[in-house]
Amino acid sequence: MKRFVVEIYDVNDIFSELEEARKHSREKDVSAVLVHVYLGVQGRYLVDRLLNEIEQCLPRALIVGCSSGGEILDGRLTDQAIVISVSVFYKTEVSIHAYPVKAGQEEEVGEEIRKLIDATPDVKAAELLIDCWSLDVSVLFSAINRCSQRVKIFGASPYSHDSNREPMFVFSGAGVKETSVVVVAYAGKDFHVTMDYAIGWKPLGVQMRVTKAEGRMLYTIDDKPAFDIYDKYLKIPNDEHFYDNVFEFPLLLYTHNTYVLRMPFACDENGAFTMIAAVPEGVSVFMSYGDPDAMLAEVAECARRVAKFHPEQIFLYSCAVRKAFWKRNVNNEMKPFQRIADSAGFFTGGEILRVNGELVHFNATLLVVGMREGEPSQAALLSESGDKQEFTAPGRVSLVKRMATFITEAMRELQKAAVTDELTQLFNRREMNQRIRRCQEEGRVFSLVMLDIDNFKKVNDTWGHDVGDVVLKDISNLIRSSVEGRDRAIAGRWGGEEFMILLPSTDQEAAAAIAENLRQEVERRLFETAGPMTISIGVVDSHDCSQMNVLYRDVDEALYEAKNSGKNRVVVKTHKRD
Ligand code: GH3
Ligand code: MG
Ligand code: MG
Repeated sequence: MKRFVVEIYDVNDIFSELEEARKHSREKDVSAVLVHVYLGVQGRYLVDRLLNEIEQCLPRALIVGCSSGGEILDGRLTDQAIVISVSVFYKTEVSIHAYPVKAGQEEEVGEEIRKLIDATPDVKAAELLIDCWSLDVSVLFSAINRCSQRVKIFGASPYSHDSNREPMFVFSGAGVKETSVVVVAYAGKDFHVTMDYAIGWKPLGVQMRVTKAEGRMLYTIDDKPAFDIYDKYLKIPNDEHFYDNVFEFPLLLYTHNTYVLRMPFACDENGAFTMIAAVPEGVSVFMSYGDPDAMLAEVAECARRVAKFHPEQIFLYSCAVRKAFWKRNVNNEMKPFQRIADSAGFFTGGEILRVNGELVHFNATLLVVGMREGEPSQAALLSESGDKQEFTAPGRVSLVKRMATFITEAMRELQKAAVTDELTQLFNRREMNQRIRRCQEEGRVFSLVMLDIDNFKKVNDTWGHDVGDVVLKDISNLIRSSVEGRDRAIAGRWGGEEFMILLPSTDQEAAAAIAENLRQEVERRLFETAGPMTISIGVVDSHDCSQMNVLYRDVDEALYEAKNSGKNRVVVKTHKRD
């Protein structure tokens, strides 16, 4: 394959700038000529002329293009230009397909694309240019993703700084000029592609949970308005500068077995965010921070992997957020790829990549796609050892990273203190309450085991408070051991010498057995100074019970019964049916 990348500032220059590409594209052994065009959103009115000129100059060309937030060539940013990349293939079959999709047609069109990909002989890769703003991409992506897992899929969403005023656009020379989805299929036995990506943002502070979200709206995190975290930890005001203050600290969530960044870009008066891409309800989420050194290190790793593939051409689809983050240093993270092969691409409004078998919508990510026809040349293989030096990352730990570690560790300690009972180091009652409620909301059966030390007052009265404390700690350790290794089981101090155990996915028989074991353990033990002790236990499960207060009442009644019928025993209570 041969690659020609030019930047033009005047449509009239297309013919002269593409002269060399034109020569090569006319050779008889050419199998396909693919043209990518990237230009600013304000260049929309030029699209017709662009297509016309390129078609005149390269009659065989298949043309795709979109609006960009900055164009990339030679591993550098060239703002305000039009970048035209011409890929001349000798062994690869390329086809382009345009879909003018309207909102609501995502499933149907996704299925059409799926069929198209699967019906293309020897298909190796599909590139998607999709207006992710006006479509429900989660539906579209899951439909497309049903295609053969062997096919590599990558792409990007075009960019617009204000989609409402100046809509982003995708175009193609495939009959439908203005469209919302363009698919480029790359096929052929000798076509090889590698896809890679670098994020570089790192988690900051403690893990949180998305508690209410729908589509691109993110309403609450840990049951509080999403904005509260930026207000509380960063003192970022909810004003017209919200995005400028927030983009260095996007949300990092774990989904599809990978970390994905999600960028809030607007905040309403209730503290709900509009996100650049959807956030699923229930996922774990961190605030994150951009560390320039960590980013460069990650990019260097990525470049090393891509170099090993020996691509003949590279596409760089990098998020416009990275351009804003790096400002005039943005070329630092693209340069390494230029040393590998000619690169072209643009700053996007979202990156698309199939990872771990899932088609994922990324934000704030640098996506790198390398392509090659045939096997790498001997010369390329020989040069491999010489390249190693070029991608070394800085060895020193950056100041930002050390600060972030400090913050994260401090927050973890505070968070632990907030949920822990100081004397016993079990969870405190507030935390138990919350976790039990969450378990209840999940709707699966769980059991509660409530226990109280028998005649504990006597220990205090006879040996003093300190000996009482030792007994509390010793019994807490036995309780802890009784839940250890059980899936998501936890124990807490409910108050004084009363404890609660939560056993998720456990019915009352299993819970009673665990309780009985614990009772025997305590009975067998000779406590320091205090001697023998016993405990009384109440057990309920959540069958037939949808209310927390009923559950608490019943487990309390079971424990009361154990006390009243002679102590040192387990009583299981079945709920009265309403
Ligand atoms: P029963 O068998 O009916 O449960 O009798 P009991 O003596 O265990 O229960 P009671 O409620 O009469 O007494 C509980 C005592 O636990 C009273 C309180 O002083 C003591 N206690 C509560 N918290 C602590 C603590 O943190 N340390 C110590 N040493 N004692 C505590
Ligand atoms: Mg007691
Ligand atoms: Mg008590």
